[in-house]
Amino acid sequence: MIIAIKQGVPEEKIRLFAANLEKQGVQVHFSEGVSQTVLGLVGDTADIDADALSAHHLVEKVIRVQEPYKRANRKVRPDDTSVSIAGRDGAVHRIGGGFFGVIAGPCSVETQEQIVSIAQAVKKAGAGFLRGGAFKPRTSPYSFHGLGAKGLDLLLEAKKATGLPIVTELMDMQRLDLFNDVDVIQVGARNMQNFSMLKELGRCKKPILLKRGYAATFTELLMAAEYIMAGGNNDVILCERGIRTFETYTRNTLDISAIPALKRQSHLPVIVDPSHAAGLSWMVPALSKAAVAAGADGVIVEVHDNPEKALCDGEQSITPAAFAELMKTLEKYTELEGKRLA
Ligand code: PEP
Ligand code: MN
Repeated sequence: MIIAIKQGVPEEKIRLFAANLEKQGVQVHFSEGVSQTVLGLVGDTADIDADALSAHHLVEKVIRVQEPYKRANRKVRPDDTSVSIAGRDGAVHRIGGGFFGVIAGPCSVETQEQIVSIAQAVKKAGAGFLRGGAFKPRTSPYSFHGLGAKGLDLLLEAKKATGLPIVTELMDMQRLDLFNDVDVIQVGARNMQNFSMLKELGRCKKPILLKRGYAATFTELLMAAEYIMAGGNNDVILCERGIRTFETYTRNTLDISAIPALKRQSHLPVIVDPSHAAGLSWMVPALSKAAVAAGADGVIVEVHDNPEKALCDGEQSITPAAFAELMKTLEKYTELEGKRLA
C-alpha cells in the first residue's frame, strides 16, 4: 500500500502517523521528495482500512498494490485447492486440483419419483454430485418457492438411493440446522454479498458453493469467499453463472474470462453453471465445452426428466438422455485438458 502525504505536513507529524501504522504490524518506508512525502507500507496490509486512511487529514491519496483478499489469494497458496467429499457410494468426489466435478440435477426438487429417478439417471451417466433446490429464490412472490424441508428430505432419499453427495441452496441462516446431511451448501447469486450469512458459513464445516452475483466483479466474488475463509472454512468452490449485460437473447451472459481470471488470482476451484448463464437448454453442451477449454474445475447443470412440466427453469434444463451425451463429450474434453472426471 502506498500513501501520499499532503504537501507541507511537518515531518514530526508524519513520523507519528507512521509509528501508529507500524503498531498495526506493517513496516513503513519513507520516500521524501522535494515537496511531498510518500510512505510505502510493507507486510500484510489486508487488515489496514484503506478507506479510513484516505479520510485521514494528513493523507492525499492511498493506492493499494496488494489484493485485499489473502486466504483466497494464489500468492499465499500457489497450489490448486481440491475440495473432496466422501460419497455414500464409497467414492471420494472431488472438485479442483486436476479433478473435474460434475454436479447435475433439477432446478428444484418436486416429487420423490422425480428426484430419485433423475438422481439415478445422472449417476448412471457419471455425475459426481446431485443438485436440487428445496428453498428457491424466485423473482416473483407468486412463483413456486420449493418444497422447503420436505424437499430436503426427498433430496436425502435420493442421496440414499444413489450414494451421490448432494448440493443445495441455503437461503437464510435460520434453516441451517436442516442442512446437517447436506454435503455442499450453495450460496446463490442473490446472496453472494449476504455478509452475515458468509460469516456464519465460515464457522460451518461443510464445503460452500459460492455463486457469483450477477453484477459482481471478480474482486467482490473473491472477497465474498474471503469472508467464508476468514471464519476458518477453506472449502469454497467459486461458480461463474453468468452476469447481467445488455443482451436479452440469453438469460445472462456467460463470462468465460472469469475462469482464467479467477484461477490466476485464487487457488480455489472454479466451476461453471451453463444452465443459469444461458437460460437455454440447447446451449448447455456448447458452454460446458467452453468451460472445460477455459480451465474450469467443473460444471453444475440442470437436468429434468420432463423439462416442459418443470416447476422451475424448464427452458434451461436438459433431459437425462442429453446429459448422458454431455458426459461422453466431457470425458473427451477433460482428458484433453489433463483433468479427471470426479
Ligand atoms: C440455482 O442454482 O438454482 C440458482 C437459483 O442459481 P443462481 O443463484 O445462480 O441464480
Ligand atoms: Mn434454476
